[in-house]
Amino acid sequence: MRFDVLTLFPESIDAFLNESIIGRAREKGIITVNTINIRDFSLDKHKKVDDYPYGGGSGMVMTPQPIYDAWEHVVKQCGRKPRTIYMSPQGTLLTQETARRLKNEEHLILLCGHYEGIDERIIEEIVDEEISIGDYVLTGGELAAMVLIDCVSRLVDGVLSSEDAYSNESHYNGLLEFPQYTRPPEFRGRKVPEILLSGHHANIEKWRFLQMLERTKAKRPDLYEKYDRENHEKVLEAYGLLPKRKRRKKAGSENVEKGTAGISDVTPES
Ligand code: SAM
Repeated sequence: MRFDVLTLFPESIDAFLNESIIGRAREKGIITVNTINIRDFSLDKHKKVDDYPYGGGSGMVMTPQPIYDAWEHVVKQCGRKPRTIYMSPQGTLLTQETARRLKNEEHLILLCGHYEGIDERIIEEIVDEEISIGDYVLTGGELAAMVLIDCVSRLVDGVLSSEDAYSNESHYNGLLEFPQYTRPPEFRGRKVPEILLSGHHANIEKWRFLQMLERTKAKRPDLYEKYDRENHEKVLEAYGLLPKRKRRKKAGSENVEKGTAGISDVTPES
């Protein structure tokens, strides 16, 4: 997958991209990230990229010409018009679902604004989608672009060692991940739950799934409410956790009742 980031501060992005999982994915050629300095495309003799806002007001606005020319440079280079995303506090919120959708794109152009933002006509002319990383205002779009690149890249085949590495993680199925522990078995009097030391993999799986439900309900009741109950039935079945009355119903019917298996119904069977 390829990302082209249009930015006034390419060095801030380059430093992050050489690190860790994304760095290795770039080395392996699974992910390509190019940074394009918008200032290099300014036709102004002083390489100016911003100007005062029409109508007055504080701050400066990024001018359209250098952004358009930087974008056109990428489009000409690759011979098509990749999906172009403006990182913006006015965009739709970036979620795991957005990441899953975007990982299917071969190529994305990410536009990072600065100052008071960019001239509106650029959004009209080249932007397919505006994405925000949260309801707060950052100084520039670079951090937001890095967040997007990171969460999309780790879903691309070959970036993590297996799908397992992310399919149990928070938000994959609409739930938060179970609690994780490592050595030592006891820390300041706090013990690792006995079941994790038991070596009984089926019971560990069940325990983990129950933890996912319980902690989502406790920490993020909003997510718990939205949690896809149809999928819940399938996951419960896979974990051997489908309540008995449900299994009997399922045996006689293709249409498993939706939305009725509550957390209290789900008790691990030994
Ligand atoms: N004046 C703009 C407004 O009120 O909508 C905010 C401009 S902000 C200071 C400068 C740049 O940071 C934006 O053009 C955008 O690229 C980026 N940015 C700020 N907050 C962001 C967020 N929550 N998500 C994504 N990008 C953001």
